[in-house]
Amino acid sequence: MRIDLHTHSSISDGTDTPEELVAAAVSAGVDVIGLCDHDTFDGLDAAGAAGERLGVRVVRGIEISAEHRGVSVHLLGYGCRVEDGPLDDELARIREGRTGRIPAMLDRLAAAGMPIDDVLDDFVGDSPSVGRPHLADAMIAKGYVSDRREAFDSYLADGGPMFVARYATPLEVGLDLVRAAGGASVIAHPWGRVSRDQLPPVLLAGLARSGRLDGLEVDHQDHDTATRTELRALAADLGLLATGSSDYHGTGKQDHDLACNTTAPDVLDELTARVARRGGRFV
Ligand code: AMP
Ligand code: ZN
Ligand code: FE
Ligand code: FE
Repeated sequence: MRIDLHTHSSISDGTDTPEELVAAAVSAGVDVIGLCDHDTFDGLDAAGAAGERLGVRVVRGIEISAEHRGVSVHLLGYGCRVEDGPLDDELARIREGRTGRIPAMLDRLAAAGMPIDDVLDDFVGDSPSVGRPHLADAMIAKGYVSDRREAFDSYLADGGPMFVARYATPLEVGLDLVRAAGGASVIAHPWGRVSRDQLPPVLLAGLARSGRLDGLEVDHQDHDTATRTELRALAADLGLLATGSSDYHGTGKQDHDLACNTTAPDVLDELTARVARRGGRFV
């Protein structure tokens, strides 16, 4: 059984619609796929319906823009009840922050000789969760950069020349919101772009001890072999589940093919059981 618990659709910054994503899972021989769009649940019903049609189990997820001491942390929530008021309000606040910073970034781009405001809407499409990758796509269309990676490396990355900060949920608040909505929490790529100094073992240990955190995403393309080994040992020490996922974004991210990393069936079973106990909805 091939299980890939972290993917994105065009409802956030992936390039496949939810239906296309599920079809891509079929082609890749993936049995279980977690849809974790950034800060929105809007793709889940379409993906779930496509999953029923095509014989793929679609796990209902989200990737919440969180932060710890000003450093960006991506929090995966699995099985949250989407009608949960407090979580919904918080996600709306994050999405407002996403939309709200765009004019400032467009101003910076224009001042640097890269006007793009006339085409941005074409790339945001159906997404209620506008992000830097959409800006990157508009920059590509204008010929300013050749791909998303170049856009991030040269301009858009955290702290880059065109970067404007936006609201993100304090990590511990995010963990509590996921739990209150019946879900299970996994920190995405904990030592990927964020270093172990910024998200140290002692912090992860505290979250594990408090019982609010369920797992760590260990196998991810942003982690090298040594990092994976270290994180896997840490997760085992702390009694946290260890997941593995592609973080697939369609053509929007190179080297993140579906099921390039996978999650063990017993981990999926444990997540399923926890969400059932908490009254969430996993699939
Ligand atoms: P934002 O949602 O605006 O905070 O933009 C961050 C998102 O951009 C991440 O969640 C990734 O999906 C994507 N991203 C970050 N760095 C890169 C990169 N170097 N190349 C392509 N996509 C990236
Ligand atoms: Zn993304
Ligand atoms: Fe992420
Ligand atoms: Fe992601």
